[in-house]
Amino acid sequence: MAYTGSAHGLTSPRPAIWSDAGACLGEDPELFSPDGTLGKWVQVIADAKAICGRCPVRDRCLEWALDNHEDHGIYGGLTEDERGNLRRRQARNTRQAVRKPRGPKQPPPATLREFFDRHASHTTGGHLVWEGAKTPEFRQRQLTPNQLSFLVDRGHEWDGPIHRLCEVRGCVQPLHLADVQERLQRAAAGAKAVA
Ligand code: SF4
Repeated sequence: MAYTGSAHGLTSPRPAIWSDAGACLGEDPELFSPDGTLGKWVQVIADAKAICGRCPVRDRCLEWALDNHEDHGIYGGLTEDERGNLRRRQARNTRQAVRKPRGPKQPPPATLREFFDRHASHTTGGHLVWEGAKTPEFRQRQLTPNQLSFLVDRGHEWDGPIHRLCEVRGCVQPLHLADVQERLQRAAAGAKAVA
């Protein structure tokens, strides 16, 4: 179709190739452009994120929003504040990666996220490469890097094997991973988009 706007009706242009498959096409654009984060906007944001959660082009959408510094609205399931946090985290990780060797011994990581961030480095194209042990252990629990990434990002345990959706070998970018439930949701959303 001729493309005149973003997947959810905002004004910035996007390549039609991926955005035409966005789950937000046909949804109320205002859902994805909340004017706040409190009060009635809490539910609006939750509704928009639920749509992004079943979107087959969520990763590409987020990457696009980050690359283009889109500073308003929900893209790839993240609000502008969440994208800002992600960008800062990416910048911090990049700085840490450039600074290697890391010098004096650091104190043990206090949280699972800190543990993950210490061993995952961002590369071009929005991928994350795991640089820690093959079976990392945090507080006496052993996880694979994929399980660790999934747990840190989703905040809950995975269902079945976690598969990588991108083609970069060893990538542990949480947005490039999906467990069984998420793959089923993506397949259903893809079928709906094609129908
Ligand atoms: S991730 Fe969300 S905002 Fe982006 S195309 Fe999909 S549904 Fe639309």
